[in-house]
Order: sequence, then C-alpha cells, then structure tokens
Amino acid sequence: PTAPSVMTMNGHFANVGDAPTKEQYEHGIQVINEEKEFNPNLNTYLQLTKTAQSGFNYHLISVFGSQSTGKSTLLNHLFGTEFGVMAETERRQTTKGIWMSKNKKESAAGSGAQAMADNIMVMDVEGTDGRERGEDQDFERKSALFALATSEVLIVNIWEHQVGLYQGANMGLLKTVFEVNMQLFLKDKHSNPRSLLFFVIRDHIGTTPLANLRNTLIQDLTNIWTSLSKPPGLEKSRIEDYFDFSFAALPHKLLQPGPFLTEVGKLGTRFRVGHRASKDHAQLDQELEGGVFLPEYHRRIPADGFSVYAEGVWDQIVNNKDLDLPTQQELLAQFRCDEISREVLVAFDEAILPFEEKQAEGISLGKPAVLKDLGALGKAARVKSIKAFEVEASRYHKGVYTKKRVELEGKIDTRLKALYQGQLTAAHKSGVTAFSDAVSGAVKAGQKKGASYEFADIVEREKKIALKKFETEARSLAIEGVPWSNFKQQYVLYEKDLDEVSGQLRKEEMRRLATRVERWVRSRLGESVGLEFNKLGSGRGGSGAPETGEKPASEKDLWDRIWTLFTATVKEAETRFIERAKSFDANQDEIEVGLWRLRRKSWGVLRAKIDEEVMEGNILLKLRENFEDKFRYDEAGVPRIWRPTDDIEGMYTKAKDSTLKLIPLLSRFQLAETYAAPNLPEWIGTAPASVDQKDEEDLTPIGGVDEEEGKSLEEEMTVLSEAKRQDLVVRFKKTADGVYVEAKRSAIGGVAQ
Ligand code: GDP
Ligand code: MG
Repeated sequence: PTAPSVMTMNGHFANVGDAPTKEQYEHGIQVINEEKEFNPNLNTYLQLTKTAQSGFNYHLISVFGSQSTGKSTLLNHLFGTEFGVMAETERRQTTKGIWMSKNKKESAAGSGAQAMADNIMVMDVEGTDGRERGEDQDFERKSALFALATSEVLIVNIWEHQVGLYQGANMGLLKTVFEVNMQLFLKDKHSNPRSLLFFVIRDHIGTTPLANLRNTLIQDLTNIWTSLSKPPGLEKSRIEDYFDFSFAALPHKLLQPGPFLTEVGKLGTRFRVGHRASKDHAQLDQELEGGVFLPEYHRRIPADGFSVYAEGVWDQIVNNKDLDLPTQQELLAQFRCDEISREVLVAFDEAILPFEEKQAEGISLGKPAVLKDLGALGKAARVKSIKAFEVEASRYHKGVYTKKRVELEGKIDTRLKALYQGQLTAAHKSGVTAFSDAVSGAVKAGQKKGASYEFADIVEREKKIALKKFETEARSLAIEGVPWSNFKQQYVLYEKDLDEVSGQLRKEEMRRLATRVERWVRSRLGESVGLEFNKLGSGRGGSGAPETGEKPASEKDLWDRIWTLFTATVKEAETRFIERAKSFDANQDEIEVGLWRLRRKSWGVLRAKIDEEVMEGNILLKLRENFEDKFRYDEAGVPRIWRPTDDIEGMYTKAKDSTLKLIPLLSRFQLAETYAAPNLPEWIGTAPASVDQKDEEDLTPIGGVDEEEGKSLEEEMTVLSEAKRQDLVVRFKKTADGVYVEAKRSAIGGVAQ
C-alpha cells in the first residue's frame, strides 16, 4: 500500500469542536501523541465506529516491535487499517505515539467459524528500538504499561534473523513488558488477568521450522524471566502465571508477495474468540486452538467507558504514579455510573416534569388536581430509567454500581414520592368534597320527594364509593417492592376524614330532625294548650262534653293539666327523635344532646304559647267569658232572663269574685297539690358531657336551669308580673261592671216592656 502522508500530527490535540466525521478518522485515531498527551476525542472515535455501544463485546490488540519491522504493514494487511507505513525509499519513523484503529475486515473476512471477532480495536505502538528517540527509553516503558493495562493480545513483531539474539532490541522490550506486567498486576491479584504474547516472525525463510524458532524464543523468554529481579512475594512466580504464548511465521513480503498474502490471510482467521484446550497453564508452548481471544484476557472495561478508563490509566502512567488498576476501575465506575445516571435522569425528567408542573399549578390555584394516568406513567418512567441504568452501568464495578443504583433510585423516588403525595392529597381533598356533596345532595333529593330517606344508608353508600375511588388511585400509584409506595396510612387517614365529615353531616341531619320534632311539638302544644286556656272561658268548669262522662276539669288544676300534657307531648317527641336518630347511626352522646336540646326548646315553645295566651287582650277576653258564663247562665247552663226581683248584685259579686280568683292562679305556673312550680331543672336534666359550644349557641337561657344566667325558677314560672296582674284586675272589673250594668238595664227594660 502507498503511504499516506497525512499521518503525523504535530503539536497538541484540538478540542472537539465541529461535528466529527468518519473521514477525519480514516487512519484511525492518535490516542497518544509524541508529546505524551492523551487525545480527548477517543470516545468520539469509539462512537463513530459504533464500538462504544458494544459493552464487553470488543477486543484490544497492541503491536510491539522494533522500528521499521513492518508492523504497520502487517496490521494494515490483517485488519484493513490504514496505519502509516514507511515508504520503501525513505527510512524514517512514521508511527508516532500510539494509534488506534478499528478492524475494517470484520465482515469481509469469511463467516461462520472463521469469522473474525466483533469490534477488534488495534493499537499501533511507536517502534521501540529507539533509533530516533534513543534518549527516550521512558516512552517504551510507558507505552508497554499502557498496552498491558488495556490489551488482550500483544503482537510481538520480530525478524526471523533476530530470533536467538538474546541481546537484541526485542529482548530489551520483552524485559520491559515483563517488568511492568509484574508491577501492574502485583496490585491486582484479584482478577489476575492474563495476556497473550503473539509472536509473529517476519521474513521467515523456511529453512528453520517454526517449531524450532518457537523453542528458541521460549528458551530466551524463560531466561529473561529468570534474570528479572522480582518484587517481594513474587520471587517464585513463573512467566506462565501471567502469559500465554502463540507463534506464527510470515514469508518475506517483497520477495514472496503471494505466499505472504496467503499466510497473512490465514493469520487473520485466528483473531476470533477462542477456548483453552486444557486448563493447565503450565505448558509454555501449549498452542491455542482456534481463536486468540480467550475471555480471561479481557480487561472487562465496558466499551462506553474505555476512553475514560484509558485516559485515567495514561494520566497515572505519564505522571509516574503507581498504576493501580482496581482503583482506576472503581474511579471509572463512579464516573460512568454518574454519567449514565445523569443521562437516565434527563429522560425521567422529561416524563415527570409535565406532571410536576400541572400539580404545582393546581396547588397555586388552590385547586389541587388529580392527574390522569400518573401512576401508570410514573411507574413506567421509573422502570425505564432504572432498567436503562442497569443495562449500561451494571457492566462496571459491582460495588460502585450497586451504590449508584441505590442513589439513582433515591433520586427518582424522591421525585415520585413528592408527586404521589401531592396526588393523594388532591384525591383526598376532592374525594372528601365529593363525598360531602353526594351525601348532602341525596339528602336534599330525599327531602324534596318527601319520602323518608335513610341517612345512614346514604352515608354508607357514598362512603363506599369514595373509598373505592381513593383506593383505585392509591393502588395505581403503588410500585411493587417499593415500601414507600404503599399508601395504607393515607387511606386510613382518608377514611377517618370521611367519617369526620359524615359525623358533621349527621350532626346537621340531627339538627334538621330536631327542627322537625320541635315543629311538631309546637303545633301539638299550640293546639292542646290553647284548648286548656279556652276551657277557662267556661265558668262552669269547662265541661265541654258532659255526655262523655269526662270529669270536668277544674280551674284549679289548669297548670297540672298543662304540665301533664306538655311532658307527655315531649315524651312522645323524644321517642320519635330517638327512633329516627338511631336509624342514621347517631351515637348515644349525640342522641342525649339532641334530647336535652329538645326538652329545653320545647319548654321555650310552651312558655311562648303561655305568654301568647295571657297576652292582654286574650286573657281579658277569657276572663270576661268566664265571668259571663258564671253570671249569665244558671247551674243547668240555661241563660238567665233578668227580672227586677233577681239578686243581680249578689250574683254579680259571686261570679266576679270567682273569676278574680283565676288571676293569681294564672300568674304563676304551679302545681295544685304542692303550690310549687314543677321541677323543671330535674325534668330538663343536666347538660350531657358531650355538649359543645355550637350545641348551646341558639339556646335561650331558662331560669332555675341555667343558674349562672341570674334568673330563678320562680321568675321562670311567673306568668304575669305583679303590675300586670293589678292592671288585669282593674280592667277585668271594668268589663264585669259593664256586664253588670247591662244586666241591670235589661232587668228594668224587661219590666218596662
Ligand atoms: P513499522 O515501522 O514497523 O510499522 O514498519 P512499516 O510497516 O512502516 O514498514 C517498514 C518498511 O518495511 C517498509 O518499507 C515496508 O515496505 C517494509 N516491509 C513491510 N513488510 C515487510 C516484510 O514482510 N519484509 C520486509 N523485508 N520488509 C517489509
Ligand atoms: Mg509503523
């Protein structure tokens, strides 16, 4: 092949700027330049050649050997690479630093068992005989370390005539390789990676068979190994503890171009994944069967982390630091896991952010919304993110990976948790509101229809619906195996709130019931108490129905009768109240409060009714009727026709006095037998312990019951004040006088006729 002249790159690496193209990397990439700088674009190259995505499915080969021994030529033939080679007319170093190129024959070189391994990366290392860099033995050492830290197979390129020249430049190189290898893997006893030293003998004339050349080389290698001063602890180590060996010979490229190509072709087929025929490493000359890439050679650096790892390794080497590969691998793992985690979180963010924004908006508007499909999409985003992380990151150092995975899950879950809490808060809020509205609505509908509705049934039905809805939401948010996503506690709190709301609604329902019962009491008392007072109008004791044999009511026990019918009415009301309240699951406390309120309110109703009855006009009318009845009717109830001889005055006085006796009786609510007021405080009873302020708000104080109000029972039972009483007496007398005068006149008038 003709030599491309664009290969050298002087000065420093340019930063990655314009979008890189494949053409730019036609000749591969200079990983390390002659200034010993690491190329920051290596990962770009791995990306462009689609190697970065290959995980562990890639292979690294380095080639070593003296200057101008046809190394680059060999690689170009084997792998279709375009490494620079020396023009045959000049004799100048071409390869500087370390170049890398991907195998371009991958798919071309046969198929099936003979197909080359995937993603072979080849490193062409600057020649090492130091002809042009004589002073720089340092680079030889550094590049050997770098190649050993990364490569599975080291090709050692050697002229046939150099074989057996123990003092030759190659042997110096091999000594270096062994030394740095020992230094390197002294620290890494754990993985103890092996490498393959693949000797390719060039310009093989054929007179000495390959087997003989091999024996000579193995002898030399053993000698070198023996001569090495070994670090403490490794004094007894053997070369075969670290290396496998393989050998191949190639004819002279210029003198035998045909056979050269044939043999190179055969050699190419060996770059396959191989297996060790025997587990015994002890045989130095054991030939590998099949491919050269044994799994145990692989450095286990995931392809997408290779550039970072290689850079770290080179940094340590170039700064003469102790190269500690396990530490490098851990650092790499941290770096890459963080990087992968960030990438994964970007995608997660994209999925989750819209929900977060919607939720925040709802909260800021005071209307927290239940977001549709949050559970399913949140879960999917979580699974996708963690899976993506797992695929990429699990190839790295296990301990670091595990730790970083926990960190990632933590980050994801923090976001999801906040979102889910918000979701449940919204579901809670809207659920409670919907429940309250539904119950009130059903009650209202029930009232409208006038039909009896069962409050407890309504509550039970609506609660079931509300709980189910919340449960469905909570379940949709649950993530299997993630304890925080079990929202049992929120469910319990929600149910508690529903119960509180239904308690509140039941209280309102109780109020409505109380109002209905009070109304009933009012109408009942209005009628019956009215009747009792009407009886006063009948001066003959008000026996409205003598034919029934009913005992005529006496004026004296008016209050007894009122008290009796009052307590009986309230008793009946209480029964109704209890029955109804029980039907909607009111508790004992609530019922007690309700009854206590009912008694107090009923007393108020009675008291108002009495006040109405004794209002000036009403009571005066009744007294007049009472008087007239006594005065104008005889014992048999027959109206009197006054005659002048009648003792009008006597009868007037008797009737008047009798009616006047009613006034003190009417003035005070008292029982006939004891002349005492009924025991109202006892009848009402003390306030139940569970009465709260709201229960008392609308209650009118009752004298003798609410002692702190400063009104006595005596005052409570006073129907007519002293002043009113006297005023009533005066007015009544005037009315009676009028009736008397009229009677007198009619008596005289009757005679005159
Ligand atoms: P490198 O420095 O080891 O990479 O060597 P090059 O590949 O650049 O080749 C150096 C010179 O050796 C070039 O002029 C090649 O033409 C020549 N060359 C390549 N292959 C062979 C070979 O198999 N035998 C001989 N004798 N010369 C070769
Ligand atoms: Mg070269």
